[in-house]
Amino acid sequence: MRAIVKPTAGSGLEMVDLPIPECGPEDVLIQVKATSICGTDLHIARWDPWAETHVTPPLVIGHEMCGVVVDKGPKANGPDLGQLVSVESHVVCGRCRFCRTGKGHLCDNTQILGVDRDGVYAEYVAVPAINAWPDPPDMPLSIASLQENFGNAVHTVSVPSVSGRKVLVTGCGPVGVMAIATAKAMGARLVIASDISAYRLDMAKTMGADVTVDPSSQDLVAVVREMTDGEGVDVLLEMSGAPSAIDQGFRSLVRGGEAALLGLSSRSLEFDLDDNVIFKGATVHGIVGRRLWDTWYEMRGLLRSGAVDLGPVVTHRFALDDFERAFDLMASGECGKVVMFPDPADADGPLS
Ligand code: NAD
Ligand code: ZN
Repeated sequence: MRAIVKPTAGSGLEMVDLPIPECGPEDVLIQVKATSICGTDLHIARWDPWAETHVTPPLVIGHEMCGVVVDKGPKANGPDLGQLVSVESHVVCGRCRFCRTGKGHLCDNTQILGVDRDGVYAEYVAVPAINAWPDPPDMPLSIASLQENFGNAVHTVSVPSVSGRKVLVTGCGPVGVMAIATAKAMGARLVIASDISAYRLDMAKTMGADVTVDPSSQDLVAVVREMTDGEGVDVLLEMSGAPSAIDQGFRSLVRGGEAALLGLSSRSLEFDLDDNVIFKGATVHGIVGRRLWDTWYEMRGLLRSGAVDLGPVVTHRFALDDFERAFDLMASGECGKVVMFPDPADADGPLS
């Protein structure tokens, strides 16, 4: 089968021919129909310091996907052959303290597809049956593929209380704009969004932001004050990892407010803890992955009810063979989600 691998430590990716993976006793074998690119895949392609310390080549990369179950191990409960499934990328142990207490997203033994074990940029992938999430058969493949990433947004929005409240989203990449739509669907009364890219601010508007701000030319904290009777927002959803956005976000937060942080800075940063958190009496939530499986049920509800429409988030489609162009586009930032199809005939929209 064709697969995209990180062949050796260093920058770059290669398409290679590999045997179809073996389906273990508790696994399902999935024929990949669509697979989307995430920022993590860019880190691995570029081989930045994060990738150097987290990834051991050779490795098939990629972790966002949907596909059809084509084989099952003898002990695999779960999806039937032929079922369309999305995949939860965190393979957890089910036995540690966290898994046993409903906090599988914090599992001691997490293995992430495409990071710690072979991933999904391939024609086939074998995963534990429990990781295969059944989708309605008529779900567009690009939406089914990006659900894993949507789950990051849904998890972040669902931890603080947004209903009836004023919310600031810093960073309008794919996860930020999906968080904007989710916050609106969950009843936020005002959503202010910041980004330094005009393309991304346009997407934020499309996905439901009431106000968009470019902090490189506007004073974000002043705009927030003006929009909130001088008080600040009740909730900060930090989706950029940019040190200046984190600082502006906390300075925009009302006293006693809640911040949910998903964006990764990838390094230590200087931060005014005294004024931004302690004297403000702020509550800070770190967000990792998706809650297993609460977040997936929440996503199902948001999508099936039509409360969130992820259609506009998918801006580009490519054949998997054309992965180099897909990665270049993703790196440019002039896109939303970029989805690749091992068989271009499966594409649910025009190919770029
Ligand atoms: P992305 O890189 O596409 O989006 C980040 C956005 O932040 C970009 O649009 C960028 O222009 C914007 N930005 C940069 N500097 C800014 C500033 N000063 N003010 C406002 N915006 C600024 O990333 P994404 O795929 O949307 O993911 C969002 C973040 O979440 C990333 O940092 C990613 O690494 C992280 N992430 C974390 C988890 C987790 O489990 N915690 C999971 C997935 C992604
Ligand atoms: Zn565990």
